[in-house]
Amino acid sequence: MEGYRTEKLTEGKTKTVYLTKNSDEVLLEFRNDITALDGKKHDILKEKGSINAAVSAKIFSLLEENGIPTHFIELVAPTVMRVRRLEMIPVEVVCRNFAAGHLVKSYPFVKKGEKLRRSLIEFFLKNDLYHDPLLSEEHLTVFGLMSKEEIRTVKKITRKINKVLSKYMLKLGLRLVDFKVEFGRDKTGKLRVGDELNIDSMRLWDLKTGESMDKDVYRQGGSLEKVSQVYVQTYKLIVGEK
Ligand code: C5P
Repeated sequence: MEGYRTEKLTEGKTKTVYLTKNSDEVLLEFRNDITALDGKKHDILKEKGSINAAVSAKIFSLLEENGIPTHFIELVAPTVMRVRRLEMIPVEVVCRNFAAGHLVKSYPFVKKGEKLRRSLIEFFLKNDLYHDPLLSEEHLTVFGLMSKEEIRTVKKITRKINKVLSKYMLKLGLRLVDFKVEFGRDKTGKLRVGDELNIDSMRLWDLKTGESMDKDVYRQGGSLEKVSQVYVQTYKLIVGEK
């Protein structure tokens, strides 16, 4: 990262953003922090930064190969990704194929693991203090978060990501249960997938055993040793041996 980094722009729960000499780009550093419960649970997991940077790079490359616009340019170090600078939209776009997590907790008639009639796209405000409230399409336009046209584009891109990723994971013996993406506008106003797409932001279940192969192991109180094992295993499946 030497020779690239200038000053720190922002720091999130697991990543730090740095400005570069090129004002159209930033560097994303993936740290070893792991968090849950809106940041109330926090630990450090050895190698998590490099694992999630490599998984994100692999997935963003896969999306680009399939014509999906992302912010990804290249990995410049094991934990550092060079990306296009975007004006981020503070909305988490969740796409679900099977019922889990928040969906099961929120609605009485939804059973964990059941296949949804069709994939469900939901929007949440990115705000830990308010526990990421659910947003309807009306909220998005009334609050000025996205235009109607942008909502249409975001949904279309998210469906395409779901198709590409589900197929990819299936080949690896994994079920893509759900995932979260974030979008931003580049300097021309074009929407691109930003942030990250990795073991923290997807639910992946082993097709044979049904076991979680993602951050749920941590959310559900698994030992750090077990969490670490799962991250390495999933990394090896998605990226290949180190
Ligand atoms: O918690 P919930 O069921 O809404 O999560 C849906 C999907 O979005 C999961 O794959 C989870 O990992 C991801 N997610 C995320 N960041 C959040 C909330 C959810 O990556 N803040």
